[in-house]
Amino acid sequence: MKQETIQSPRGVPDILPDQQKYWRFIRDIVEKKCQSFGFKKIDLPFFEDQRLFARGIGNSTDIVEKEMFELKKTSEEEEAQYVLRPEATASVVRAYIQHGMRSWPQPVKMYYWGPMFRRERPQKGRFRQFYQFGFEVLGNIDPHLDANVILLAWQILEAIGISKDLVTEINSVGCSQCRPEIRKKILEFYSQYQDLICPDCQRRYLINPLRLLDCKDKKCLPVIASAPQIIDNLCRECKNHFTVVLETLDELEIPYDLNPRLIRGLDYYTKTAFEFRELKDKDRQSSLGGGGRYDDLIELFGGKKTPAIGLAMGIERIIEKIKEKKIRIPELIGPKVFVVQLGEDAKKCCLKIVSQLDREGIGAACNLSQNSLREQLGLANKAKSPFALILGQREIYDKTVILRDMKNGVQDTIDQKEIVEKIKEQIGTIKKKK
Ligand code: AMP
Repeated sequence: MKQETIQSPRGVPDILPDQQKYWRFIRDIVEKKCQSFGFKKIDLPFFEDQRLFARGIGNSTDIVEKEMFELKKTSEEEEAQYVLRPEATASVVRAYIQHGMRSWPQPVKMYYWGPMFRRERPQKGRFRQFYQFGFEVLGNIDPHLDANVILLAWQILEAIGISKDLVTEINSVGCSQCRPEIRKKILEFYSQYQDLICPDCQRRYLINPLRLLDCKDKKCLPVIASAPQIIDNLCRECKNHFTVVLETLDELEIPYDLNPRLIRGLDYYTKTAFEFRELKDKDRQSSLGGGGRYDDLIELFGGKKTPAIGLAMGIERIIEKIKEKKIRIPELIGPKVFVVQLGEDAKKCCLKIVSQLDREGIGAACNLSQNSLREQLGLANKAKSPFALILGQREIYDKTVILRDMKNGVQDTIDQKEIVEKIKEQIGTIKKKK
């Protein structure tokens, strides 16, 4: 009986070899920019205690309520319920407290890169396993830092080549001082419109009224248009903070749109909140990334009150934009030398040469499953190797090898002992010509 073939889970894509160049391209830019902005890398666990996200992101958010992948408990793990991480800020905060980073010079600036997991309905640009990079600044409330993280993200988008049609949507969502009053006003206002809003908003009204302002349902939009705006009700501190953030963005010439309806889907934000999206994405369906301040989160997790700000960018969505805009990506550097083997004895010798070159820091490759010269030279061309070494029966017998310049086809027989020296010489000549 024919066995059923097993597929990857829905919304969990493979990243195939021909796609790797995009990932490498973005990763190189992210690493370089983060380091030059003084951020240090942190790697975080792929699964964590469920309470971390329930407390941090908020019990009533879609992510916590509907989208977490829970791991099966074992008998020894009665206490904790582990989940695949849906995002990384909560883990960064946990690590900050757990490793006593408050005693480090402040602010602590860290960046991460890795997969996140959310049980969402898979569709274009929305996966169940997707990758984010993000950065966090913990331990300082200076509003210039808010502009600093937006600037870093913007520079990354610029270096990738996709910033042209993007905009930073920005808002202030207030703080623990002004939010109760804002919430009260929103509740008062919405009490007249209960029948006109979508079922999700009827639920939000009871548990998280601020998020009423961020609903994208057409039914709710006319109500939102006349609802009280957070920005008109900020306390003096939040107002001043936001003014400095906007002034700094003006100074840095980063394009932004003030969007008083922007709340974001995670509950931990205070003061500045922002998202990067395409100008043409008027319905705000597909942001490339976003973030904000979370000045209360560390205290909420049991640490001392510590202000912080951060953001996360979606890598698949960035790659989609790169492809859409046909940005040219540098090809991955292939092997410098392709070793061609013709016959059983040549195979052994070929592996020895590949490993010898590799030890000398010269990238080398071979293919043991192809036997013909033509096919193997074809592979060398495909890999864009500037040189090939050809080993036939005769060369094995003479302890020689043919060195072929793949560009002009010129060949020379050399002693096997001279391989490294000759290749280095040839690579040196290419560099000089450049
Ligand atoms: P968030 O962590 O929800 O603030 O999302 C930050 C960014 O991650 C978004 O702007 C998207 O680019 C990306 N993202 C979030 N959820 C998904 C998903 N399910 N699939 C692909 N990318 C996502």
